[in-house]
Amino acid sequence: TLPVIYAVTPTYSRPQQKAELTRLANTFRQVPSFHWIVVEDSNVRTELVSRFLARSGLSYTHLHVLTPRRYKRTGMPRATEQRNAALGWLRLHRSPQDPGVVFFADDDNTYSLELFEEITHHTLFTSQCTKAVSGTGQGTFLLNSTMRLTRRVSVWPVGLVGGRRYERPLVDKGRVVSWYTGWRADRPFAIDMAGFCVNLQVVLDNPRALFKRRGSQPGMQESDFLKQITKVEELEPKAENCTRVLVWHTRTEKVNLGNEPKHRQDSIHIEV
Ligand code: UDP
Ligand code: MN
Repeated sequence: TLPVIYAVTPTYSRPQQKAELTRLANTFRQVPSFHWIVVEDSNVRTELVSRFLARSGLSYTHLHVLTPRRYKRTGMPRATEQRNAALGWLRLHRSPQDPGVVFFADDDNTYSLELFEEITHHTLFTSQCTKAVSGTGQGTFLLNSTMRLTRRVSVWPVGLVGGRRYERPLVDKGRVVSWYTGWRADRPFAIDMAGFCVNLQVVLDNPRALFKRRGSQPGMQESDFLKQITKVEELEPKAENCTRVLVWHTRTEKVNLGNEPKHRQDSIHIEV
């Protein structure tokens, strides 16, 4: 059986939230053996997100935890509490018998299906993947270059991040040796949240590994987390030895609501 891909998505209420979640769900719906952990930055499970998930057709878990107000300032890391809530849920509800991998999928990024390997309508590709799972044939290369078979921690390039077209782990003889980055090259793991995946077993084996607020500098969330569970030499390069961009750190423009009426003018209420 395929290991389950657990995608952890922190999300918060804003005018474009449902649009972002829709784009994400449309991608994730194409991925077999997939479980979406959506964590709202909120006191409650909102009706919008509850309804959205119920209609998504996806296997999901809906959590919520509010970021304390003192942490909601510019320059402060976002979604620390939400990602930790998802790790807590996995540790409570999954056991070593459950094969899976965990990755962190912010709601505004863009994900290629090749990151998850399955393009189920493409027969040739599918048969290659099947061959790869049974461990024979030329398909092995294809499936090995995806996150699902992460043994401990895997990494890959991320597009449109760090003030560059992309950042990527630099690989020599199949091993990560350093980082191509334009920003804080001193980071032990110079990688964005969207650029790595952790085997569920590693999450369970390291019950205290969490995203940190205290003592964490801006942009160090990823490094502070990864150094609790792995070493650079152990990282497994994906996306064809980190030579392809399969995820983009896209950001959505702030919506202009300058023409919203002060008092409701329409005769109906529409969820947007
Ligand atoms: N997020 C959140 N609460 C906030 C701000 C952001 O839960 O107050 C979520 C957001 O929905 C996204 C992730 O945290 O999934 C990263 O936030 P954002 O995309 O704004 O960060 P950036 O792309 O600027 O690093
Ligand atoms: Mn973002």
